[in-house]
Amino acid sequence: SDKCKQDNLTAVLHGIEDLRLEQRPIPTISEDEVLIAMDCVGICGSDIHYWVNGRIGHFVLTKPMIIGHESSGVITKVGSRVRNLVVGDRVAMEPGIPCGKCELCKIGKYNLCPDMVFCATPPYDGNLTRYYKQAAHFCFKLPDHVTMEEGALLEPLSVGVHACRRADVGLGSKLLILGAGTIGLVSLIAAQSMGATEIMITDLLQDRLNIAEELGATHTLLLKRDDSLEEILECVRQTMNGEPDKSIDCCGAESSTRLAIMATRSGGVVVVVGMGAEEMKLPLLNALIREVDIRGVFRYCNDYAGALALVASGQANVKRLVTHHFDITETEKAFETSRCGLGGPIKVMIHVQPRDTNN
Ligand code: NAD
Ligand code: ZN
Repeated sequence: SDKCKQDNLTAVLHGIEDLRLEQRPIPTISEDEVLIAMDCVGICGSDIHYWVNGRIGHFVLTKPMIIGHESSGVITKVGSRVRNLVVGDRVAMEPGIPCGKCELCKIGKYNLCPDMVFCATPPYDGNLTRYYKQAAHFCFKLPDHVTMEEGALLEPLSVGVHACRRADVGLGSKLLILGAGTIGLVSLIAAQSMGATEIMITDLLQDRLNIAEELGATHTLLLKRDDSLEEILECVRQTMNGEPDKSIDCCGAESSTRLAIMATRSGGVVVVVGMGAEEMKLPLLNALIREVDIRGVFRYCNDYAGALALVASGQANVKRLVTHHFDITETEKAFETSRCGLGGPIKVMIHVQPRDTNN
């Protein structure tokens, strides 16, 4: 009905621990955009971070911002110039729209575009809302058998795909992943499909390692806060029967980045995904005399299509990452659950439509 159509309930972050559900106008689309009836939105660590701290580095919340960016939905309107989508298409949305014109966009590194408009990164609104508009060319049509939740999970999976590409993971790679949160687990999933044959993953929490094992990690290593670096290195080498040639740090702790560098075989690659302190003390000399390359990762770039292909092929069990479900009206409870870590939440999914409506 028309009354339903006017309902655009939206989750707006007004400040630290001030998350409100409000009605917002339904957006009007331009010729290259589509209007999307949102289906589900996963909560990401960054959403929690803005809610708890009001900022991430130099991105500061200075005015109310709609939260959420791991999303999928159904097209309800298309702009006059849109050719790739029609009303009724189920889509996953890549949440960052680069300018497409700057030097970084033109060399193909659009994730580094200085004019990136990224969902739920101040000052730009996110999409935990009933109706959202977006550039059509950053929507990915989902095959019928891919669920809306899997569509939303393409966002973190793309981070894993990008991290593995940055690490040059390939056939026979021996990989160490530090941290078995969402990002460590999606890196595990991506690495398997890209040919890594031996994957060790570490965490401080056994629950998370159990999930990593279920997903096919070949080795898991439970770290304790007071383990010595030498002990851990010895254990990694023994278990993996040698040194890993790639490491992906998905924690952001100084100790894990240090371990990543020290554990990696000479001539290998360390990829740092975890975002920790602004400055760290790291064994750079060790890395340089052994030609261990240290590479950063920022989100993803041309990785959504690969992530979708992986999920569509049935190889990527991203569904396993979802541990909790909430309705949009319970957004605050969903955030509390995601933050407190009790009951081992990994991915908390917020449903804007009742679950499975569009599957
Ligand atoms: P998460 O908190 O769910 O996972 C982190 C995991 O690391 C937890 O399971 C924790 O127990 C474990 N851990 C903490 N210290 C550890 C240590 N010393 N050794 C081993 N494990 C340890 O977070 P997430 O959502 O998986 O994100 C991971 C990191 O990646 C965060 O720092 C996040 O900001 C960052 N991130 C970066 C990008 C990017 O573009 N670079 C994108 C997304 C997330
Ligand atoms: Zn650009």
